[in-house]
Formats: sequence, C-alpha cells, structure tokens
Amino acid sequence: MNSARLKPAAAEIGTRPVSVLLPLPLPGPYDYRLSDGVTAPRGLLVEAPLGARTQLGVVWGSGNAKIEAHRLKTAVPLGNYACLPEALCDFVDWVARYTLSPQGSVLALALRARGAFDTETPRLAYRRSSVTPARLSDKRQRVLDVTADGLARSIAAIAEEANVSSAIVRALVAAGALIADALPEFVPLPVPQPDFAVPVLRNEQHSAAEALREAVMARNFSVSLLDGVTGSGKTETYFEAVAEALRLGRQVLILLPEIALSVQFLERFAARFGVPPAEWHSDLGHTERKRVYRAVLGGEARVVVGARSALFLPFQDLGLIIVDEEHEQAYKQEEGVIYHARDMAVVRGRISSSAVVLVSATPSLESYVNAQAGRYRWLKLAARHGVAKLPRIDLIDLRQHRPEPGQWMSPVLIDALRTTLEEGEQSLLFLNRRGYAPLTLCAQCGHKFTCHQCSAWLVEHRYHRRLVCHHCGQDTPMPTVCPHCGAQDSLIACGPGVERLAEEFVQHFPEARMAIASSDTMHGPAELQAAIHAMSRGEIEVLIGTQMIAKGHHFPNLTLVGVIDADLGSADGDVRVRERTFQLLHQVAGRAGRAAKPGRVLVQTHSPEDVVLQAVAAADRDVFYDQERRLRERTHAPPFGRLAALILSGVNGDAVRTMGKRLAQEAPAARGVRIWGPTPAFYQLLRGRTRERLLVQAERSVDVQAYLRQWLGPIKLPASVRLVIDIDPISFF
Ligand code: ADP
Ligand code: ZN
Repeated sequence: MNSARLKPAAAEIGTRPVSVLLPLPLPGPYDYRLSDGVTAPRGLLVEAPLGARTQLGVVWGSGNAKIEAHRLKTAVPLGNYACLPEALCDFVDWVARYTLSPQGSVLALALRARGAFDTETPRLAYRRSSVTPARLSDKRQRVLDVTADGLARSIAAIAEEANVSSAIVRALVAAGALIADALPEFVPLPVPQPDFAVPVLRNEQHSAAEALREAVMARNFSVSLLDGVTGSGKTETYFEAVAEALRLGRQVLILLPEIALSVQFLERFAARFGVPPAEWHSDLGHTERKRVYRAVLGGEARVVVGARSALFLPFQDLGLIIVDEEHEQAYKQEEGVIYHARDMAVVRGRISSSAVVLVSATPSLESYVNAQAGRYRWLKLAARHGVAKLPRIDLIDLRQHRPEPGQWMSPVLIDALRTTLEEGEQSLLFLNRRGYAPLTLCAQCGHKFTCHQCSAWLVEHRYHRRLVCHHCGQDTPMPTVCPHCGAQDSLIACGPGVERLAEEFVQHFPEARMAIASSDTMHGPAELQAAIHAMSRGEIEVLIGTQMIAKGHHFPNLTLVGVIDADLGSADGDVRVRERTFQLLHQVAGRAGRAAKPGRVLVQTHSPEDVVLQAVAAADRDVFYDQERRLRERTHAPPFGRLAALILSGVNGDAVRTMGKRLAQEAPAARGVRIWGPTPAFYQLLRGRTRERLLVQAERSVDVQAYLRQWLGPIKLPASVRLVIDIDPISFF
C-alpha cells in the first residue's frame, strides 16, 4: 500500500525526531523518533507509545531538531508502511485551523475505520485437486461432484451446495482432494462504467454537462453551481461529469445530505454506470467500512457516495466533488468538530485540485452570491424534464378557510385530496413535526409537560404511547393522571404532529391507502425505502410525512402536495429563517407534477401576506433571493459579514453565567468586531446543562479565527464549564 511513496533508508536513520499527530483531542503533534530505517513522509502511519499503551498516529512533519533523538520515545511504522495522502493531511490542518478544533480531533475524523490498516487476512477458497481418495462415501462423492467444475469456493459454500456438514469438506481437504487458494480479504469493489447507459440530454442539460465535463478535464480547482428547478434532471446532468472523471481515471466523491435515505439515488447511479457506488455513512457495518476505506486509500474505489464525513476519506486522486442539495442544513456537523461540509468540500477541492459542483434548486444564499459575483461558474436548468411543468402553488388563508375545531386540514385541502383520490393520483401531506402533539397540558390545572433536563415541551407519541423529549431523547410512558394536580383523564393534546394528522386524514378518507413517514414511525432506512417503493409503485395513495420526504424523491403520479402549516419555524429568529422556509416549501412543492400530469400545491398559513410565502407562491425565486441578499447586506449578515457563536454550558448554572460575563469582559476591542451577549441560549437547559451564548459579528475583512485565538487563548475555563465554538453558525438554539 503506497510503499512507492517511501524513499529508501537514509544514513542518519532513526536519529531525527518526527512530529506525530495522534487522533485525540490534544493541542498538537508530539515528537517521537522512528524505529527503523525509513525516512518519514508526512502521512506515514505509526504505532506510537502514549503513557502505558500504544496508539495509532500519523507522521505530521519533522520534529524539534533540538531534542536529542535518544530522549524521545520510539514510534514504529505499520508493517505495510501505510500512508495517508498528503492532501488529506493538509485538509486536516485546514479544518482544524478554520474551526479552531484540536488537530487530533480532526485527524480522528480521517481515521474512522477500525482495522483499516491491519495486514490483510486472506480468505481461503478450495478447489478440486487431481488426488482422489480411496474410500468414497456418498457424501464425499457429492462434494467432489460439486467441485468438479474446478472453481474455488469457501468451505461453507461447498458444504451447503453438496448438502453435507463442513466436517466432511474438511476431511477431503485433509486427504488432499481439495486444495486451498488465498483470495484477497475483500471482494474487489465493482468498477462503474462511464459509458454503460449514456442518456440523451436535452439542450440546456447538454450545455451544462459539457461545462461540467470541461471543468473535470481541466484537472484543476474550480467551483460550479448547478442551479436547476426541481425535476430538471440535475442528477442526469452531473452524472456526465462523474463519467468524465471516471474516464480520466480519477476518483469521485458525491455528498448527499442524508445518505441512508437515498435509495432512489443509488438505483439511478447503478442504472447509469452499471454498478452501485461505494457508500460511506454512519450506518455502515465495521467490515464494510474497512473495505471501503481501504479501497479509497488504494485508489480502487472510484466513486464514493457519502454523508459529510466522507470528506475525510483518504482519496488518492480526487478529480470531482459533487455536493447535492448543497443548501441542506444536514451538511452542518453540529457536534465534536463543528464544520459545514459544503464549505469544507470547496476547501477539499482546492487542496486536491478537484472540480467542485454544488447542486440545488434552491441554493444557499452564500452560493447564490458567489455565483452572481462570478466566483462560481453558474449553470442553470430552467425547465423540467420532458413534458412536466412546474406546479401551481396556492396559499390557503386559514383565517378564511378554517379547519374544524381540533383539526388541521382546511376544507379546501380536503376537497383537493378527494379529487386527487378520485382521479387515481397520489398526494403528499407535509408537516414538519414528529409525533402526535407537540404539547400536552392538563385541562384542570394547566400543567405543561416539559423535560426535566431541557427547556422544551415533551412531545406525545401516541403510536408508542409515550411522552418524548426531542432534544435529549428522555421518554416516559404517557401518564393517565396529572402529576401536578392529580386529576384523572384531564390531559389534552395541543397542536398537530404527523401522527395526529394521519388520524384526521383517516376520519375523512377511511378507505384511502395511507402511510406515515417520519423518523420514529419508521424503523430505519429499510422501512423508509419500503414506503418509498410502495409510493413509486402506487400502492400508497397518500404519504404523510416530515422533512424526510420533502425533498429528492421522484414520484411521477404525485400531483397534490399539501403543506399543513407554513408558519412553523418562522419564530426561530435567526438570519437564515426566511431562506430556510423558502427552501423547504419550494422543495416540498417541487415534489408535485413531476411527470405528465400537472401538479398542484396548497400551502396553509395564517399570514398569506408574508413576503416569503408570496415568493413561494409566485415561484419567483430570484425576486426572493435578491430581496434576501439586500437585507443581509444591510445588516452585515452572512455572507456579507462573519459570525461565530460561543456556547458555554455546564451543570452548574452559576458557573456558566459567571464565565459568560467574564468572556464578554475580556473580549479585546477590535475594528469591525462586535460581541453580542452573553444571553441565555434559546434552549437554556439542554440535557441537564445550562447554556449561555455569545455571538461574534465581524466584517468580512476580519480574521475571526485569529481574533478568537487572541481572545480565548489566555482564558482558563473551570473544569465544570465547557466552551463550544461554532464558526459560521446556522443553528441559533
Ligand atoms: P432534479 O434532481 O433536478 O429535481 P431529477 O434528476 O430527479 O431532477 O430528474 C427528474 C426526472 O427526469 C428523473 O426521473 C430523471 O430520471 C428524468 N430525467 C432527467 N433528465 C433526463 C434525460 N436527459 N433523459 C431521461 N430522463 C431524464
Ligand atoms: Zn430533554
């Protein structure tokens, strides 16, 4: 593995110190000396002693030459001299500097495949030899018959085919009638074929695809924004860039916001390239992780489809990075090393000289502004594929078209559902709330059920008969008695969740075939996949779900989309709230009428005059973006200014508040920097910890990281208080 990168032993073997980065939250690399006659390239994997144990580490550079080598501990290169690509090491450094995370914590993201560097354990397979044993029972004869074709098989496979126990097979091995072949540990990954099923692209797809192919062929860093309306065939278009990278023999990374949910994507990939891509996400089993990681490192994995963590895979020669649905919030990693995978994909592309393609029907304002300014190549697809037209969108004023008391669907929506069912077409009802009801209260005393550890209401899940905190996951069986006043059967559910909406739907349409899709009614990706297939085959007439079904899916017979509550989320009070509402509603609306039959979208709201909703209804995207752009410019909000959030938390509320005040006092004055706070966070209590926030707002020209280092470097936090730094925050809770 990569031994070509290692130079022959130098004369001063083992005497020069090297710095070794360990995948642990330590401030930086430590110095070691190397055990044997290798010069150490950056990226070389070593076993390094740390305290009483040894630890996998990576040579990061040369060590401090002033330290005499014999005073250092000795690090040992792995037997196979495995080495991380230098571009990955550079990327780790970059991410650490930008996010102000310990380098070792970022390195840990790049080493997330246990055993990936172990020496291979070959698999043994057995085939027939020329020896025929003297005594042949029936069973033994069956084994010889099965293996007569000369092919190599595992013992288990032979035993199964011959219908004998594995002991019989082993006995024949011992007798010399079967001989072993060593096979590589893993079956090689199938290779995608660039010309397997080349589609006929329409004009605008064709020119966009050409531009993307040119970007790939240029073999240098560039960013393109593939900006096409929902259903315009963006996937078909960027697949041509993937094909080009394959022809050039370079590797490809395709990032998806929720990889476990992208069944349809994997099928489309296989239809285009003949085989499925390699996958990388948190649901992968240990063996598969090891297999994919190795194949990426060895260069055999040509296309990897992954979640944000796939950015940290050891690609040898990354020619193309696609970020599909680039506006998605799911690209922000909110725990541990806090980073935005879309932004880091651009950085990764620059370091690896790759073409980067950002894809969306509703780009982030950041990407939109970059495209407008000409920093990104802007490729537009304005029309839906085939005869499909964009759907008609109507705002339903709930003040005029009131639902029945305790219900959530207006008469207009119910009528539209009825017509759609009668026409034999499909509908989707969208409500971005899991569970049955977001609030339970006692009708006698007004007691509200809240989480003891979080400042949040408990959500009733009637399906599981439980009250659940959506923040810490704490759950209790649904009580029958109010714990506060002791009243019996006095609890009432307030507000709708998807389960309650489904109940209401069934009251109106008891005959209709309906399914709920939300992360707690479906047990894992397989169930969601089943629902999506059922929907594609027309076995379901109405799908009721949360944002997990809002985007990406393609159901040709889906003609009606109902948005139950467009006002949800508008109270969040952060800079991106309008953008997010627009994107989500636009995406949901985009599910309707994607084939021959025209689509209709009904958006229920209490404030139809709202500018965002008006823009959604008019499907007038650019008017909305330009308005939003001016607003952000005026308020120095991103991308026209920089933000960084500091979140202090701890079990001891006083210690947290004191620390918050101290931080604010010690903030150095600097031109173009303003500090807001400390203020209690929106969720003041989360998982039992009190939280305070400070927000740093800076002009674009300010080096925020340098400012933060100068400010926070000298400050010593008490052990009971934790500080999290979130550069470019998108969540303001
Ligand atoms: P988007 O991602 O832009 O919303 P999709 O890529 O899902 O759109 O495309 C919508 C539908 O049109 C898909 O079923 C896709 O297979 C089909 N399609 C798009 N372009 C072509 C093409 N050139 N030839 C055949 N089918 C296409
Ligand atoms: Zn909680």
